[in-house]
Order: sequence, then C-alpha cells, then structure tokens
Amino acid sequence: MVPLLKRLCYFVLFFTFSLGAQESDDSINQTKRIDFANTITADDLSNLLYRFAADSMQGRMTATPGQKKAAEFLKKFYQNEGISGALPGGGYYQNIPKEYFKSKYVKTDSENVVAIIPGSTLPQEYIVLSAHYDHVGAKGDTIYNGADDDGSGTVALLEIAQAFKKAQDQGVGPKRSVVFLHVTGEEIGLYGSRYYTENPIYPLEQTVCNLNTDMIGRIDPNKAGNDNYIYLIGSDKLSQELHDLSEQVNQEFSQMELDYTFNDENDPNRFYYRSDHYNFAKHNVPIIFYFNGVHEDYHQPTDTPDKIEYPLMAKRTRLIFQTAWEVANRENRIYADKLDDADIKQDKK
Ligand SMILES: [Zn+2]
Repeated sequence: MVPLLKRLCYFVLFFTFSLGAQESDDSINQTKRIDFANTITADDLSNLLYRFAADSMQGRMTATPGQKKAAEFLKKFYQNEGISGALPGGGYYQNIPKEYFKSKYVKTDSENVVAIIPGSTLPQEYIVLSAHYDHVGAKGDTIYNGADDDGSGTVALLEIAQAFKKAQDQGVGPKRSVVFLHVTGEEIGLYGSRYYTENPIYPLEQTVCNLNTDMIGRIDPNKAGNDNYIYLIGSDKLSQELHDLSEQVNQEFSQMELDYTFNDENDPNRFYYRSDHYNFAKHNVPIIFYFNGVHEDYHQPTDTPDKIEYPLMAKRTRLIFQTAWEVANRENRIYADKLDDADIKQDKK
C-alpha cells in the first residue's frame, strides 16, 4: 500500500492531468465548432437560394408541380451530402393526404421533406430544425419566388445540415439527433407542421426543442442599415434555459443584436402564432423562432434572390447552427421549467 501522502500526490497528479486533457479536448472541439460554423458562407447560401427560388419552381405552391420540384431539390441535396431521410427505411417524404388540407387549392397529396443526423450518444433525443419550403405560387406569368419567405430559411437548414455532417464525418457529430424538417402547406394554414406534430416521426416527448426559421434574408424598414440584428420570438415561453443558452451562444460566437420586440405578448402582429414553431409549442416543445421582420416585398412577386443580404443571412444561419450545436451537445437535456408552472396551474383548476 502506498503511503497516504504519496497517494494524495498521485491523486493530485492524476486530477491535474485529466483536467488538462479535458481542457485541451474541449478547446479543440471549440475551435472545430467555429470552423464548422464557418463552412456556412454567404456564397453557398446565395448559390442554393438562386436555384431554390428560381422561376422554374413556379412559386412552390402546395400540391403543385413547383412544390414537388422543390421537394426533389431538397431530397437530392441530402442524398448528395450522405444525410439520410428520417422516415422508416430512410425515405425523405412524409406524405400528407390531400384531404388533410382544408383548402380548395389542394387537389393532390403533398409532403414534408425530413432528414436526420443521428446523435452519437443520445440518439433518442431530437432537436428539430424547421423551415417551410412552400410559397404562394404564381398568378398567370407572375411568379412569387419567395426568396426570403421562406427560401432563406430553407437553404439555411441545408447549410446547417452540411456543417453538422462535416462534424460527424470528423468524429464530433452531435450527441443528440438533429432533424431537418422542411414543411409544406405553411402559407395556406401551417398544415405541414401541424401534420408533423400530430403524426411525429420521432416522439414529441423526446423532442428537446424546435428552432424554426422563417425569413432571415432581409432587413426590415425599422432596421434600415442594420446588418447585425435578428428578431427572436418565443425563446423564453416554455424554457428559461433555452432562452439563456441562446443568449450565451450569441455572446460567445455571434455578437448579434437579438431583438425581442415581437416576443411581447401584446405585440399586435402576434408572430408567435403565425409560423410553424407554434405547432410544436402547442405540444409543449420549447421553441425559438428566427425572423427578420416584414418588408415591402413580403408576399409580393418582388421577393427575389437578388434582394437578399447574404452576409447577414450567413451570420444569422451560423447563430442558429451554434444554438443547435449547444442544445444537441450539452450534457443535460434543456428543461422546460415554465411548462411545469403551466401544469401546476392547470392541476389547481
Ligand atoms: Zn413564411
């Protein structure tokens, strides 16, 4: 048996050594994490968006050939990147029967496009990144390209997926699974996200959070000249931890101006209820909605790829990537503390 003092020395040595190893491991991963984020570039986003919001997509109206073509575009992207589909058997399309859409415009089935990067150590916990890929179509020869709405969110998801895949290929893939959910039918009533949350591919109880991106390529008139802001909505509604984490990640990696104007319950725009994240929030999944605000080309044929602020869009996309990375990799699952309050209140009634 070694004398106590010697044992203590060993212990201190061992402890110091392992702490040191831990630190350098962490700092290597931290550096890599920034490198992965930096693979999300203005040029890549621009290349993708000019193709995705092209006239040939005919404005991507739900259940039209344009929307089907857009779905194919997404599926091919994931296939080329080696990222598998999320449906059982590896398929990418979650079919939604035409009857589900209570809309006179819908005469055929439509589909959500869903891909996944499985978690390395906690694959049964899911971070869902979402964006709607449909838009409002065309009127005669006038095509509504929907470059910002929501071509921007759509191609942001593709770039984020690519960055996570690179991390996985280098052995530092996300600990929790990251799901890329491209929903259809948003413009005619948030149908695709509602369908997903009513028919989830992965259990909603195991869905840690939903980060939803709808319009992140422009600057709204109230922010003219500001190339460093984004509106965040809903981050503190169900989980204070998600909100705090989002703030910390921004401070550390992005230093953007996070504007909570539209998070105010009394804001007349009620954006919290107006995009796909709301269907997740309704089912008690904590969410953050990333948004640039509205502008003169909103739902106009002039929402075109040439008007997008690509460097700013890249910054916003990297912020979402870093936030997803943090939620996916931190040791403990984020806690929906405000949900418990809501439950308790309900029980008391
Ligand atoms: Zn939209």
